[in-house]
Amino acid sequence: MKTSSSGTSAGERKLMPFIHEELDRRQLLYSLLMPVMNQYVPDLDKGKALHFLFVKAETKTPGGLVARPVLTSYYKREHFKNRLFDPYNLYTSPNEAILCPDSFQSMYTQMLCGLIMRHQVLRVGAVFASGLLRAIHFLQLNWQQLSHDISTGTLSPKITDPSIRECMAKLLKPDPELAEFITMECSSEDWERIITRIWPNTKYLDVIVTGAMAQYIPTLDYYSGGLPKACTMYGSSECYFGLNLRPISDPSDVSYTIMPNMGYFEFIPHDDSSPLTLSRDSPPPLVDLADVKVGKYYELVITTYCGLNRYRVGDILQVTRFHNTAPEFRFVRRKNVLLSIDSDKTDESELQRGIENASVLLKEFNTTVVEYTSYADTKSIPGHYVIYWELIIKNASRPPTNEVLNQCCLAMEESLNSVYRQGRVADNSIGPLEIRVVKNGTFEELMDYAISRGASINQYKVPRCVSFTPIMKLLDSRVVSVHFSPAAPHWTPERRR
Ligand code: AMP
Repeated sequence: MKTSSSGTSAGERKLMPFIHEELDRRQLLYSLLMPVMNQYVPDLDKGKALHFLFVKAETKTPGGLVARPVLTSYYKREHFKNRLFDPYNLYTSPNEAILCPDSFQSMYTQMLCGLIMRHQVLRVGAVFASGLLRAIHFLQLNWQQLSHDISTGTLSPKITDPSIRECMAKLLKPDPELAEFITMECSSEDWERIITRIWPNTKYLDVIVTGAMAQYIPTLDYYSGGLPKACTMYGSSECYFGLNLRPISDPSDVSYTIMPNMGYFEFIPHDDSSPLTLSRDSPPPLVDLADVKVGKYYELVITTYCGLNRYRVGDILQVTRFHNTAPEFRFVRRKNVLLSIDSDKTDESELQRGIENASVLLKEFNTTVVEYTSYADTKSIPGHYVIYWELIIKNASRPPTNEVLNQCCLAMEESLNSVYRQGRVADNSIGPLEIRVVKNGTFEELMDYAISRGASINQYKVPRCVSFTPIMKLLDSRVVSVHFSPAAPHWTPERRR
């Protein structure tokens, strides 16, 4: 038995058991995606997919088992590397690029191939929306070198992986006309519809935009001119759950049909207004897949072939309808996740711990954090965490210096989980954490605002994460200083003890 690590719920990466046959089961779900898509979008066998796929670092458990994210296992498998020719599943990215553990070299090569084969590209995607936007940002930063390579037919010396160099030597031919086109498109200030300008035959974006990824929809629409966004499947490291039988539907209408052969699925009824108090003596009332009711909310519980028994994934789903006798579910949200930019998931207790660790640096300035809230800022790429702080500075003649407040940002990042730090360090999918110090009294104004909108004074709690525009405006109008993390936090593939 192997062990696979997951980028799952808040906290450190979890290790979960994994068995070889599980990859076949997951392959079965993948094999259904294109036949479903083919019912809605014709001629997908007439070209290729520019799909950004990556492997991540692997590690070993103390007992010597390999631990790695599930997709890394999937791409490293012979079955993927030597896959049979399937005209519906041709990628512009060569295996050598997908399997390169250096994220820069992998992305560079995948982008280069996508540019070279730009007329063949019929769909553009990544697993999650954040990954595709990261690729667009990468193009913004690297188009000059990429078009230089295309113009001269040579590969940038930054690409040192021998297998990539060998494979690109066969693909790369001087094409000054294409290089000129890329320079013309990318040097313009205006990047609106850049996806359809560079890849004019793209029929849809292959990215998940449900759940936490919904925050990226406006940016994706901007870069793609509103191309359909196909959320094809729903799964996790622990188990794959199901697929979307109407993949071209609007993101707000997306429902996933759970496939009963992926695992055993049960459901705990969920009601935000009266949460269940569960204990050993009062186990949750479990509902079977066949017995869920349309309109009702449930928390997903799985029993997997790999050995998880009645495991609570942490996802809240709502039944939208039935496909024949199979219920379809809308992904509502993940329980207890406050902030998420990419595959990171930070919960309230982690954020609290981060604030506490950062506050230690303020002690010598006789300063404390009295209130805080947070915001996942995805307006720029990569997105980053913003933390609003209200401070009490007891010694006004000696306030904390800029340098110390910058260090507080880093101290917070050091406290966050390894998925976050990996995003910052290895994947560059998360930008430096930002602290915005607000004027004294701001959080009281926030409470006044909530009360004016009907909140009860007795029960008012400071929201630990905000996204509602009027609240953001209020907070931003009270900012007195802004600080960013001056360095990357520590991260290694090994787990913290
Ligand atoms: P991980 O184990 O890190 O791959 O994360 C799995 C989690 O990602 C799931 O439990 C969901 O919370 C979320 N997720 C996966 N697929 C989707 C989807 N199609 N829509 C919304 N959220 C998803």
